[in-house]
Amino acid sequence: MSDHPVVIAGGGIGGLATALTLQQIGVPCVVYEAVREMRPLGVGINLQPNAVRELYDLGIAAVDLDTIGVPAQEWALVGLNGNDIYSEPRGLGAGYNWPQYAVHRGQLHMLLYRIFVERAGPQAVRLGSRISSYTRNSDGSVTAQIEHGDGARSEARGALLIGADGIHSAVRAQMHPTQPPIHWGGAVMWRGVTRARPIRTGSSFVGVGTHRHRVVIYPISHPDPVTGLATVNWIAEVTMDNSEGWKQAGWFRQVPVSEFAHHFAGWTYDWLDVPALIAGAEIAYENPMIDRDPVATWQDGPVALLGDAAHAMYPTGSNGASQAIVDARVLGAAMLEHGVSEAALATYDARLCGPISQVILRNRGAGPFGLLNLVDERCGGTFSDIDDVIPPTEREAFMAGYKKAAGFAIEQLNAAPRTIAEGARVSAPRSGVS
Ligand SMILES: Cc1cc2nc3c(=O)[nH]c(=O)nc-3n(C[C@H](O)[C@H](O)[C@H](O)COP(=O)(O)OP(=O)(O)OC[C@H]3O[C@@H](n4cnc5c(N)ncnc54)[C@H](O)[C@@H]3O)c2cc1C
Repeated sequence: MSDHPVVIAGGGIGGLATALTLQQIGVPCVVYEAVREMRPLGVGINLQPNAVRELYDLGIAAVDLDTIGVPAQEWALVGLNGNDIYSEPRGLGAGYNWPQYAVHRGQLHMLLYRIFVERAGPQAVRLGSRISSYTRNSDGSVTAQIEHGDGARSEARGALLIGADGIHSAVRAQMHPTQPPIHWGGAVMWRGVTRARPIRTGSSFVGVGTHRHRVVIYPISHPDPVTGLATVNWIAEVTMDNSEGWKQAGWFRQVPVSEFAHHFAGWTYDWLDVPALIAGAEIAYENPMIDRDPVATWQDGPVALLGDAAHAMYPTGSNGASQAIVDARVLGAAMLEHGVSEAALATYDARLCGPISQVILRNRGAGPFGLLNLVDERCGGTFSDIDDVIPPTEREAFMAGYKKAAGFAIEQLNAAPRTIAEGARVSAPRSGVS
């Protein structure tokens, strides 16, 4: 094997899932993370069964995930009038061999960080270290240029460089210098968490409204046994005119809920009080729903992109973090086949870049929320019986198409062998560098 470790740019969910995978299969790696201190940032995200399976295979068990989230039992869409459009069971209840988890993004991040440091040692994560660029070397290795939090600069030589540095990836910017700017389709999201009583099954993901004006709600903790209250994640979303582009200076800011609560005044049903839910949050995060146009390849010789750096996508399919975890495992499997080599990166790229680029475009077309667009087109959002608007067979076919594309079709996933066989280790030396 190469003398040099694999260099990972970015210690987010994708970077740490990669680091845990490489550590598991015996490939030395070092994570360079821009922030000086890891903190539990963000609100709720979903881990689909395909990603939960990979976490289990990494030795992260249900007992761990239950400390940072809750198994999801239902996915449902409800019209603005409060009538059901679609609902289906999720996770084990749907027939998957693995649950779907709704978790706190920051707590998942800290869990992965803690476990990786326990397994690989603190030196395997370098905080305050931003990778700004890379140089390909004649022996097939790669050198990453690093800017440190104190202003110092250094370099790190790697057998490979994995760019897991998020939607604003510096690695991707160098790999694809002519890529278009970030794409914003006009939707603005305000996200927050409130202590509240969970609705419907007690662990339901519920989207209410229309495709241009909606709220998504799901709990990310088990309810308190005494009060019955859980941490409930909500995303309030409005689509606006985007012809002049995003006007704010940054992509992410904290705002008081009074700035946007008026968009949801009157959204009160006998089973849900949206204004009260929003008002119950201490703070909300505003950010536009953004993604990036797909690129033709995620590989440049010994360098590959992973996670949001490869495929930043709208969160409509709840699969950004899940796909980052799956990327890491597919990359590990490719290294088991081809060693720590460019050939492994080419295999990883060939397996994922094309299909996942299609998922980006599907999510842009509303992903599974596309059913709301159909309701809008066919009846303007007003209906008493959804069967008169979209027959059940059409609703089911629509959802099945999305799940197949996103890699969480039940039969295929349950029947698929492990991505990485238990105990598998990379042993073959990397040609060219020893
Ligand atoms: C602070 C934060 C909060 C988030 N909150 C939510 C949320 O509430 N809901 C949701 O759906 N999604 C959220 N996301 C996005 C979500 O985590 C990702 O879409 C998904 O998990 C894919 O993970 P990733 O590792 O590819 O990217 P990210 O999770 O974005 O991680 C990228 C990491 O790389 C680091 N980094 C960036 N540039 C460099 C560089 N040049 N060199 C070294 N390190 C670098 C960043 O600091 C970050 O830790 C959040 C992301 C971040 C960073």
